[in-house]
Amino acid sequence: MRADDVAQSALLDVQAQDTSIAQLIHRRDSLPELANIAELEQRRKDLDGQRIEADTAVSDLTREQKKADAEVETVKTRRERDENRLNSGEITNPKDLESLQHELVALERRISTLEDEELEVMERLEEAQSSLSGVMADLHALDTDLKHATDARDAAVVQIDGQLDAARTDRQQVVSQVPDDLLALYEKVRTAKGGMGAAALRARSCEGCRLEINSADLREIAAADEGEVLRCPECDRILVLTAESGL
Ligand SMILES: [Zn+2]
Repeated sequence: MRADDVAQSALLDVQAQDTSIAQLIHRRDSLPELANIAELEQRRKDLDGQRIEADTAVSDLTREQKKADAEVETVKTRRERDENRLNSGEITNPKDLESLQHELVALERRISTLEDEELEVMERLEEAQSSLSGVMADLHALDTDLKHATDARDAAVVQIDGQLDAARTDRQQVVSQVPDDLLALYEKVRTAKGGMGAAALRARSCEGCRLEINSADLREIAAADEGEVLRCPECDRILVLTAESGL
């Protein structure tokens, strides 16, 4: 294969742009903000689980507290009714009076027990409400962090995408100077060689594999026809001669 100096030199420019594009894409895919966001999102998921738990506890205890309150009220109503009957003077039979007084004592004890139970439920409810508030505050703070991290990622992506656009435009301009057969060979070698398909020969070294070319190979390279597309004898990349090749 043959290609003139302009085409071979343009191929090095294409390679430089392809290297830049690959680096930019790698940088965009491995932004530190991405790991930060993933970590924050995991913590948000955990916190949201805690929020649901705390929310359920508050609902359950609110219901329990209302039930306990209603029970206290029921027994108090009954006590009031008994007291009214006692004070009305309607009951004169001593046995009935005694029975009513016993009932009142029992109701008083029941009220006291129920009120203690209600108090305990209220304390647990307060604790649950306080832990729910704590989780909500943590969630709010986390959402603020997440917003900052997302904004930072978006800004970084916009900046990199701008650089990518510029690199792709530059590539388009130089690639038009490379003939199709050379470009096809370059793409094939580039795929096989981890992103670098063409390299300059500078100071007797291939810039693809960084190896110095031995004298015998150098003599062969120097003797090649002008415009012949050369390959590095070490790494097989397309080797482009430059003014500094050292031949
Ligand atoms: Zn090489």
